[in-house]
Amino acid sequence: MGLLHHNGAELTPHAEDAEIIVINTCSFIDSAKQESVNTILEMVQHKQQNGGKAKRVIVAGCLVERYRDEIQKNIPEVDAVVGTGELEAILDAAGLTPTGHAKTDSPFNILPQSLAARASSAVAKHSNPATDTGAPRPAVADVGSRPEGDHREQQGRFSRAAWDGATAALPDYLYSDDTPRILSTPRASAYIKIAEGCDHPCTFCIIPQLRGKFRSRRMSSIVAEAENLIAQGVREITLIGQDTTCYGEDLGLTDGLAQLLDALAVLPGLRWLRFLYTYPNKVTTRLLETMAKHSTIAKYLDVPLQHASAPVLKRMKRGGSAEIFLKLIEKARRIVPGIVIRTSFIVGFPGETEADYKELEAFITAAKIDWLGVFTYSDEEGAAAFTLDDALKVPNRTIQSRRRKLMKLQQKISTKSKRAWVGREIDLLVEGESEETELLWEGRTPLHAPEIDGKVLINDFGPHDTLVPGTFYRAEITESHDYDVVARILE
Ligand code: SF4
Repeated sequence: MGLLHHNGAELTPHAEDAEIIVINTCSFIDSAKQESVNTILEMVQHKQQNGGKAKRVIVAGCLVERYRDEIQKNIPEVDAVVGTGELEAILDAAGLTPTGHAKTDSPFNILPQSLAARASSAVAKHSNPATDTGAPRPAVADVGSRPEGDHREQQGRFSRAAWDGATAALPDYLYSDDTPRILSTPRASAYIKIAEGCDHPCTFCIIPQLRGKFRSRRMSSIVAEAENLIAQGVREITLIGQDTTCYGEDLGLTDGLAQLLDALAVLPGLRWLRFLYTYPNKVTTRLLETMAKHSTIAKYLDVPLQHASAPVLKRMKRGGSAEIFLKLIEKARRIVPGIVIRTSFIVGFPGETEADYKELEAFITAAKIDWLGVFTYSDEEGAAAFTLDDALKVPNRTIQSRRRKLMKLQQKISTKSKRAWVGREIDLLVEGESEETELLWEGRTPLHAPEIDGKVLINDFGPHDTLVPGTFYRAEITESHDYDVVARILE
């Protein structure tokens, strides 16, 4: 969006108004692929309609990495495809010549180039000898890789040989602080991607083949981007990457994520800093201590565990066990008092027995996880688990029933723990009117990540006639439900 806007395109969120339609796709699991294809077919209709404005349809993202040649072969109305590693090709695909002249109007939050340039100059202030050579930062990663990544590459982890229609070349792109960017999130909150790709061998997952080897952005570039966002009014930054806890390993850093958090947490104007997608055995003591040390870092740990039964985790090639994970959670709660834990599990992984499932239930009961997602196993061609013996594959009915039972169990745990929130005074970022009813407003505390966790519903504005979305208020929790709580604004 930033590149298109920066080179003269006017952006619209309404497909019927667009001359060029870009569909950003996912192909992680079957349901995501289906959703992507359905959207492409729906958008193509805009091009086919008599009198329709659409002249070009571009498909971008992970579906292109998986089925590059097949997309245009099967849907000839698609004019161009742009993979995850060739962002700059979007201009060519859109028929735009790079001009460097932005249109003024946009329904999205534009980060002006002048500020991006200012952020670039701020890089010098934060330069880190471990990560900066002083040379201009290229868009394509020019840094090393992790030894694990090199080893797994030799073992074929990133091979796309079994995929018809995909090219062999893996993406190696990384954006930087001077890549034009537009915020599509509410103004006070933004994501920053700190690394791209993944070197892990999880046997259910094709993300490494889609996104390439793990590579970190330079710390100075991330800090400059954060400063730029804060100058634009962003007050909450969420760091993401396929695995944020590997951050910096390819740059020669130890505990790189903790170092990055130290650098970001003290930026003036930043209220909340959080990071998602940690890898369990990489949540170090130093990382937890860093969370505890800074008041700006949300006491929120997102650690997808995927399962709790050791044999299942072994077949997933993730390692760990219920005992190891319980110890990790206990340690996190000890070092970071009041921390909330988010995790996700996969049920129905090939070979998951009733005993494995019961172990997962027992783990959830013991761990009392705050926010929990349960996914059903999806058999993906190209993932190592796809080739496991068919006899090991769990019937869909069993998978669905196990998911339902776990969600019910979690509902009980959540209802009880949310009751303990009543009476607490908290900082609340008000987001706006509730999507469900105009009688209520909604907000989040530092213990709620954007978009995925329960909500804080606001039914009492306290001394205010109205509230301002994107603003922080002090509030008191007055009621609790299964996942959501209700708050009254205090000041
Ligand atoms: S760590 Fe996450 S992205 Fe990487 S292979 Fe495992 S599940 Fe996939």
